[in-house]
Amino acid sequence: MSPTPTQRALVTGGAGFLGSHLCDALLQDSYSVIAVDNLVTGNLRNLEHLRNEPRFEFRQQDINQPFDCGPVNYVFHFASPASPVDYAEHGIDTLKVGSLGTFQALDVAHKYGAKYLVSSTSECYGDPLEHPQKESYWGNVNPIGPRSVYDEAKRFTEAATMAYHRYKKLDTRIARIFNTYGPRMQLNDGRVIPNFMRQALRGQDITIYGDGGQTRSFCYVSDEIDGLLRLARSSEHLPVNIGNPVEFTIMDCAQQVLRVTGSKSRFCYEALPQDDPKQRRPDISKAKALLGWEPHVTLEEGLRLSLEYFKGAVEAEQPQVASAHEPA
Ligand code: UDP
Repeated sequence: MSPTPTQRALVTGGAGFLGSHLCDALLQDSYSVIAVDNLVTGNLRNLEHLRNEPRFEFRQQDINQPFDCGPVNYVFHFASPASPVDYAEHGIDTLKVGSLGTFQALDVAHKYGAKYLVSSTSECYGDPLEHPQKESYWGNVNPIGPRSVYDEAKRFTEAATMAYHRYKKLDTRIARIFNTYGPRMQLNDGRVIPNFMRQALRGQDITIYGDGGQTRSFCYVSDEIDGLLRLARSSEHLPVNIGNPVEFTIMDCAQQVLRVTGSKSRFCYEALPQDDPKQRRPDISKAKALLGWEPHVTLEEGLRLSLEYFKGAVEAEQPQVASAHEPA
């Protein structure tokens, strides 16, 4: 974005996996950054390396309450639990941050005349009946199922963002993010890559939910951040898919994890969680045409780039594995 040194960005959810990588990228881009996070799922370890960075400030803050971070030029609204295990455990908080928290973030942007980008999600498409998913697809979401606390919160977030754009002329952007992974993911957040990496590195059974034939498309974090920053620089107000269009079955993903870790773990099978989408792959033609963006890191490369992080995290923790079947 090449801003002048006085440009200041607010990142909500700045201590999260993606939020903290975004803080790094903005600092690299010569922004000064204020990150806020209530630390329900975010972790200060993700920001430890910025402790002595004079252009960085962290505030522990519940953004569902009115807050004032001072003048900013850009608001990146990334606060929300994002893994099925986390949002099942914090269901009401997830709905609140998607609604109340979103209004607070939008109000900060409006107050200071800042640009605004929100992290939305492929979950807006639910268990999609259109494949791959284009931004024009309205989705197939169960509004009362266990995933609805996240899916509907994010759909509401998009609606609120478009309303501020239409009624208050706020300069907004909406990124629909698809399964992103990489260093700083919490080992116990229950998502498939941290689960599989942890199980493989511990020599434990790999928990395949269902028959492993369901698909996902995994985007390495550096590609994701590049796409998000390009969208931030653009003037597109309608949603844009930012994800990797290469689709894998969950069984393929497990095989890749075994190869990269050199693990001899076996597979075990658990019930598929309710409403688990059967397939997911972004159509990224809009991002390609509009932003000149496409991802470059293959799943195998991304897993190799993440390996040292996951090894360190496994060494540092107690032996236990999160499961979508644990009581919320
Ligand atoms: N999954 C799995 N084993 C695990 C964790 C997840 O088979 O230990 C499956 C899950 O059922 C889903 C896919 O992997 O089909 C991706 O799950 P994740 O929780 O990472 O994110 P989602 O894309 O469902 O939000």
